[in-house]
Amino acid sequence: MSATLGSLLRTLQPDWSITIVERLGAPALESSDPWNNAGTGHSALCELNYTPQLPNGDVDVSKAITVNEQFQLSRQFWAHAVDQGWLKDPSSFINPVPHVSFVRGAENIDYLTKRYDALAGHPLFGGLEMITDRDEFARRLPLMAAGRDLSEPVAASWTNHGTDVDFGALTAQLIDGLRRSGADIRYDHHVKSLKRDTDGTWRAVVKNRVEGGSVNISAKFVFVGAGGGAISLLQKSGIEEIKGFAGFPVSGQFIRCVDESVAEKHHAKVYGMAAVGAPPMSVPHLDTRVIGGQRSLLFGPYAGWTPKFLKEGSFTDLPGSIRLDNIVPMAAIGLTSFSLIKYLVLELAKTRGRKIDDLRVFAPLAEDQDWELITAGQRVQVVRKKGRGGALEFGTTVVNAADGSIAGLLGASPGASTAVAAMLDVLERCFPSRIDGWAPQLKELVPSYGVSLADNPSLYEDLRTWTDTSLGLTQRA
Ligand SMILES: Cc1cc2nc3c(=O)[nH]c(=O)nc-3n(C[C@H](O)[C@H](O)[C@H](O)COP(=O)(O)OP(=O)(O)OC[C@H]3O[C@@H](n4cnc5c(N)ncnc54)[C@H](O)[C@@H]3O)c2cc1C
Repeated sequence: MSATLGSLLRTLQPDWSITIVERLGAPALESSDPWNNAGTGHSALCELNYTPQLPNGDVDVSKAITVNEQFQLSRQFWAHAVDQGWLKDPSSFINPVPHVSFVRGAENIDYLTKRYDALAGHPLFGGLEMITDRDEFARRLPLMAAGRDLSEPVAASWTNHGTDVDFGALTAQLIDGLRRSGADIRYDHHVKSLKRDTDGTWRAVVKNRVEGGSVNISAKFVFVGAGGGAISLLQKSGIEEIKGFAGFPVSGQFIRCVDESVAEKHHAKVYGMAAVGAPPMSVPHLDTRVIGGQRSLLFGPYAGWTPKFLKEGSFTDLPGSIRLDNIVPMAAIGLTSFSLIKYLVLELAKTRGRKIDDLRVFAPLAEDQDWELITAGQRVQVVRKKGRGGALEFGTTVVNAADGSIAGLLGASPGASTAVAAMLDVLERCFPSRIDGWAPQLKELVPSYGVSLADNPSLYEDLRTWTDTSLGLTQRA
């Protein structure tokens, strides 16, 4: 998020000085590390949680259209950055991988068919196919078909327009570009506190984690792009707007197979359905990953629990974030989120054998020894005050001071895929008097800025062709 915002600001205001402070020794070692997230370019092509079925049986596609529009902004920004030479070989961070939804049983096939009918004619979802024929299923998804009892009906929707993204490589390249353009990048520096001086500037007290000692950094504008750590830093800033917010951490694991002979039998990101009552981030998926030029498979996630807000965080993160202003929303969540708590307890009780059983729902002949468990990144779900209680949310939200001098991003989903939309939101909220003046440059960075692509299919087609070409997706499909 910080790398994206910094890159946007560098173009909009080349005269501004930018400092990025990172507590770890290199960029993108937390959630944006490629093995800490699933690398799905979330554009709602396959994620069934973005297309819920309504009580009347209809499928609501509005969220899917919003997420897809947001991902188009990211694609455009990355394509522009490649054209300008800010980002190098696009295959180092984005690769074409079909996006597939997978269901079993007549009722779920009926839902998937309705979803297909609702999306297939939409300009942003062109090329979506429905697969119910068993031979075709086996041809496209050999690893998933091998050993499967096909007396149980299965179906899949398929599109070739999906992507796998290495957000770590992308972040590192954006930060390198910022460094080359004069930004001050400080690794191993931990922001301990954020205080406002009497002249309105923010003062960050920053500890050097290697050499010891602290320095003060002053800034007229601060973006708290600290991932799971954002809630704590925004609380330290003392801004009114963070009051009533809390964070609920959920850790997780993936299971990974780096054996290329297995990986070559599956080329898709296949999303299934979450168990009834389970939260959206629990949706199981079997993914082709392309990291450092190597193909591998990733399955999960399996949830876990720790009070840490960052993978490299502290056990005091959660207790230290409880304040008088958020204790009621937090308690309300504890009392009302039975399905989340039940899901977490069941996940924590899962043995390795049970985890492999989950994988075999996707790949029936999966061999235990081919797969290794890895710890994923931390998600910190947003808890906010609602009425006299609280609400647990699974999306992202920008929180900013009324005067626009500080902002931060809370939450984890759709996440890195929609970083450009999220950071444009930060610019609009924090720089209302400049945003109109920036519009021409923003249109160069992100040509569909301010325009609905769903309502402008021919613009969408033009921009798709350009981004596919600049990002090398057509050539590598
Ligand atoms: C299991 C999992 C799966 C996911 N799958 C996907 C996916 O498939 N597609 C997708 O688009 N998104 C996915 N996401 C979400 C995505 O990973 C995140 O939204 C995104 O990486 C967040 O980027 P960020 O810059 O906000 O945070 P991060 O990448 O976590 O960066 C925050 C940085 O701030 C640093 N920091 C924190 N506190 C301080 C401090 N006090 N001082 C200095 N530095 C500090 C941290 O060390 C870290 O490097 C997933 C996330 C998880 C956890």
